[in-house]
Amino acid sequence: MRDKLQVLAHIPTQTEDGVAVQLAANISTVKELDQVLSNGASGVGLFRTEFLYMDRDNLPLEEEQFRVYKQVAEKLGGKRVVIRTLDIGGDKSLDYFALPEEDNPALGYRAIRISLDRIDLFKTQLRAILRASYYGNVKILYPMIASIEELDKANAVLESAKEELRSEQIPFQEHIEVGIMIEVPAAVIIADLLAQKVNFFSIGTNDLVQYVLAVDRMNETVAHLYNPFHPAVLRMLKSTVESAKAANIHVSVCGEMAGDIRALPIWLGLDVKELSMSIQSILRVKNSLLQSHFNQSSNIWEQLLRCSTSTAVIDLLNKHLHEDVI
Ligand code: PEP
Ligand code: MG
Repeated sequence: MRDKLQVLAHIPTQTEDGVAVQLAANISTVKELDQVLSNGASGVGLFRTEFLYMDRDNLPLEEEQFRVYKQVAEKLGGKRVVIRTLDIGGDKSLDYFALPEEDNPALGYRAIRISLDRIDLFKTQLRAILRASYYGNVKILYPMIASIEELDKANAVLESAKEELRSEQIPFQEHIEVGIMIEVPAAVIIADLLAQKVNFFSIGTNDLVQYVLAVDRMNETVAHLYNPFHPAVLRMLKSTVESAKAANIHVSVCGEMAGDIRALPIWLGLDVKELSMSIQSILRVKNSLLQSHFNQSSNIWEQLLRCSTSTAVIDLLNKHLHEDVI
């Protein structure tokens, strides 16, 4: 099936009725970039930088990080790369960085919480990203933002990193765009406020589903309750996109749900024009997208909102599914 799909890699990525949708890739390493390009991805919608910090004995220095980010930016040419700042804790740990023993790591010391606690580490990463921004189309993404205070603090560190680079006369993109992951219910609820302060939202459905449904994404005992098609999740997605649109900022989706072809009518119906997913999903989603009708998706939300169970949502979406290889 993958071979058959490969012919789709370099044709325009659009719906049957001609609406362009960007299909970007989620990556963790530079090695994946060849595949990003050969699958015709629009760019990298999520660069999970934590893998740069893993499987080693010490924190990566600014110079090393800079070289990696620069390589990604350059290799992508003008295509955009969204670099997410460190997201450890929860399901990801580092051997040399002792995280506290916690009863609920997913609700504990992780992601932006660690960065704001360890400004030294955070600023080093931001300096490296800023420096790389001079060599391509780089954006910054903060993970797990739950409040305006966190966003303001992160931006203050970014500002001080910029100030340092200016005084050292090191070039960077002055107006680099900054976005936040929307993956905590609080962020959805105050999305109207957050949208005033960022250039874009990237919806992280993996964590959003976990936190909305109170289902640990790592716990197999409750895995059957982890359902991205729960009506509560759908309402969260709709409300987030509406807040982004009202503030006129870009919104994309980067959780696993973005790579699930059943979810396509959800995004088309919300007029979301960028989906970022694992590389393996891109051509399958593109195949489905090419057969989808943007105009017919606009009223799907009336039906989705009438579904009171995940099963009803999935049944409805299955009726709109295009999975035959074209
Ligand atoms: C998410 O939470 O949806 C996401 C993309 O981030 P991660 O899976 O790395 O937590
Ligand atoms: Mg996440």
